[in-house]
Amino acid sequence: MNETENFRDHISTVNEKGKRVWLYPKKQTGKFYRARTILSIFLLAFLFGTPFIKMNGHPFILLNVLERKFILFGFVFGPQDFYLLVLATISILVFIVLFTAVYGRLFCGWICPQTVFMEMVFRKIEYWLEGDSAQQRALDNAPLNGKKIFKKSIKHLIFFVIAFIIGNTFVAYITGIDKLFEIINQSPSEHLSAFVAVLVFSGLFYFVFSKFREQACVIVCPYGRLQGVLLDSNTVVVAYDYVRGEPRGKLQTPKTTGDCIDCHLCVAVCPTGIDIRNGTQLECVNCTACIDACDSIMDKVKLPKGLIRYASMNSIKDKSKFKFTPRIIGYSIVLTLLLAIFIILASLRSEIDATILRAPGKVFQEQAENKISNLYTIKLVNNTYKNVPIQININNPDTEIKIIGKNIFLPELSVTESEFLILIPKDKIKTTLIPLTIRVFADGKFLSEIKTSFLGPGK
Ligand code: SF4
Ligand code: SF4
Repeated sequence: MNETENFRDHISTVNEKGKRVWLYPKKQTGKFYRARTILSIFLLAFLFGTPFIKMNGHPFILLNVLERKFILFGFVFGPQDFYLLVLATISILVFIVLFTAVYGRLFCGWICPQTVFMEMVFRKIEYWLEGDSAQQRALDNAPLNGKKIFKKSIKHLIFFVIAFIIGNTFVAYITGIDKLFEIINQSPSEHLSAFVAVLVFSGLFYFVFSKFREQACVIVCPYGRLQGVLLDSNTVVVAYDYVRGEPRGKLQTPKTTGDCIDCHLCVAVCPTGIDIRNGTQLECVNCTACIDACDSIMDKVKLPKGLIRYASMNSIKDKSKFKFTPRIIGYSIVLTLLLAIFIILASLRSEIDATILRAPGKVFQEQAENKISNLYTIKLVNNTYKNVPIQININNPDTEIKIIGKNIFLPELSVTESEFLILIPKDKIKTTLIPLTIRVFADGKFLSEIKTSFLGPGK
């Protein structure tokens, strides 16, 4: 291990003058890279294909933050389900903390869209057009000529087209695919805000993948910043086995050094430009490129693979096995409780919901024909795609209901409020507080029975 650890004082992509050091990671090969490529095909197919999937004519997933309409795997969530959203967010955060405490940045290397797009889409195009690390460096250092202009123009054109497709996909998740096609087929002036959103997203993605790259993980990503507090010496991360590898040195006979032959291939393939042999570092996105690189070298020099591998610091230091720490057990209990509460609340949630309250602060009113009235508010929530007419009646034959305004009607995916009066002839009122049960029907079908009361003048 590096004794002085001065590599932690700066990031490898910024030089002493504060200028960006452009990285040219070497092309990767190996079993982890192949597995990540296969997984990324599924992930990309899911990302680009999902907006086209519909259930009962509606999006399978919709994240319409502007109108606060959300559909997750066919289940509709509206603004009234905010408590579920909060609970789900807390559960996800606890899950991330727990998962990271045990498995480190597994998500970053295998699933994070930034890594998947950068390494599996944009970087592959770059290798295809400009060649491996050395050729890319040579092309960048070469004077401007026809060949360089052609290669760079083609590359950036392809990058922008892909960024544009990602931008449109993003908008499709917000508006739905039908709306997106409507926007595309009509003049930009008719959908100015959506048009601007597509351009902003596309420009942002183009900038991130063509210029900003690993800086997103190293400088911007909040998850990356949290690693220092989430990881401990029992966390499984991509790690260099310094016990086996040190002292490093060139291959020689007889062998007087550790297994690391100091070939620097693990550094050359690293997309964040670090040397994993210095130990776990904030910049490491656990992409496994150095594992593949080192395994290929170990194969060549006929030493066992796994000098760099998934391992915890403790398992490397004293060959100990993975163990459940009190922290992991505590997180697991909290996560299980949160998930149980979330499942119970989600299953108790009805598709159409009604609440009735006597208007606060109002006493009874004298009406014509010697009747007394009370004002009530009915609040309705519709989590379905149907427009639903609502009817109400009361169990008491002396009562009459008068809807204020039009009949109560509940449009699809909405929250509405209506008011109505309950009238009772004065001579039928024997007490100041009469208990009532109001029955609510949605499109003729019984929905619920709500208990309330009627305030009268008394005898
Ligand atoms: S690839 Fe393996 S052998 Fe080569 S420098 Fe890195 S750790 Fe050492
Ligand atoms: S150190 Fe290894 S796992 Fe970490 S980012 Fe670099 S290549 Fe990927």
